[in-house]
Amino acid sequence: MECSYCHKVSNELPYRCKFCGGTFCSDHRLPENHECIGLESYKDTKHEKFKEDVVKAAKEYEAKVKAYKDRGLDKRKIAICAVILIILAFIAYYIMKLVKFLP
Ligand SMILES: [Zn+2]
Ligand SMILES: [Zn+2]
Repeated sequence: MECSYCHKVSNELPYRCKFCGGTFCSDHRLPENHECIGLESYKDTKHEKFKEDVVKAAKEYEAKVKAYKDRGLDKRKIAICAVILIILAFIAYYIMKLVKFLP
């Protein structure tokens, strides 16, 4: 693998710069060390936007998880309510039978 900055060829794993897309040796993998052309624009705008995107994505994910959990809770609540209603209906039926409202 050849370093885009010093053109040294090495067998080690190439480091790809996420700002300019170049491949570099371990000495020049940092944007500061290869006079990265993507670094300035990254620092100016992309960094803030990236941070915003990450925060936004995290919030969206949280909202999705929360919505999913709420829905699960509602289903469980409905099931519990249904069971309680059935039990109450049975109790009412037996009380009515006991006091001979029903045959
Ligand atoms: Zn290098
Ligand atoms: Zn770079």
